[in-house]
Amino acid sequence: MSRAFIKEPETTGPRCPTPAGCGGAGVPVSRVTLRARLLPEAAARFADGGFLCPDPACAVVYFDAGQERALRDELREPVRPKHVGAPLCACFSVPEETFDDLGTRGDKAGMRAFLERAASPEARCETCAADGRSCVTEARRVFLRALERAEGA
Ligand SMILES: [Zn+2]
Repeated sequence: MSRAFIKEPETTGPRCPTPAGCGGAGVPVSRVTLRARLLPEAAARFADGGFLCPDPACAVVYFDAGQERALRDELREPVRPKHVGAPLCACFSVPEETFDDLGTRGDKAGMRAFLERAASPEARCETCAADGRSCVTEARRVFLRALERAEGA
């Protein structure tokens, strides 16, 4: 797809605060997500919810519309997108390689089983994922990429 067809993300929220941050757009997150992912001292600085900076290279993890910001080393544990090697699915600790492997083997049943589990109440994306959202879009992307590569080979 041509870049011209990719819609610019909504930029109604505040930008990732510079100079520590990158100036990029944030992804809104709830207070529940902030509290679950940040060390208590860092979480306590946020009066309400905030925004996640999705740039893996940026040191700022969360910020709000005011002066607050939290840095990568204030996270309770490594999490995507701030730690590239962290599990793709934070709820069930499934690494990216697992989805790549499912696609390479053409294991659609295995992928379906994961998607069902990810859609069940067992998944706790709001507290496990840095953005508080489900990882299924990203998991599917990795799976399909490997599947297409394997079928094209
Ligand atoms: Zn940033």
